[in-house]
Amino acid sequence: MATLLLRDAQCVATMDGERRELRGASIFIRGHRVEAIGPAAELPQAADAVIDARGHLVVPGLVNTHHHMYQSLTRAVPGVQDAELFAWLQGLYPVWAGLTPEMVRVSTQVAMAELLLSGCTTSSDHLYIYPNGVRLVQCSMLGGINKSDAFWRRARRKPQR
Ligand SMILES: [Zn+2]
Repeated sequence: MATLLLRDAQCVATMDGERRELRGASIFIRGHRVEAIGPAAELPQAADAVIDARGHLVVPGLVNTHHHMYQSLTRAVPGVQDAELFAWLQGLYPVWAGLTPEMVRVSTQVAMAELLLSGCTTSSDHLYIYPNGVRLVQCSMLGGINKSDAFWRRARRKPQR
């Protein structure tokens, strides 16, 4: 299983029960599990990948519990960009009625990339419109783009209603 060593972070915010902030700490990860946190001298010295974290703050991945990823495509539509919620919805529902599986796939990729760039590693997508063959899919953010690509390739082969 692949290993990763984050070495000598300025600070590791553990977010554990004691809310410990460890100065000059390192993190050893095997697969998807944090195996050890502490001074670099106390952790394995070799890993498949080593990241020099000097001068950096290391925090757990952020969690976004409410997203509408398809809206990444329509966030700057003139006429509703500054509208209140109901006028905004009335202006965009006709646009969203034309969404295709490809549009939802691309908007989901954009949304996940933006989330990852902001430190978010987990998100719940509240997709509630299903026009033109759009379907819901469950995927992980880090491996989800490829998985959803495979899903959408399959979905495109199905006849459209
Ligand atoms: Zn919502």
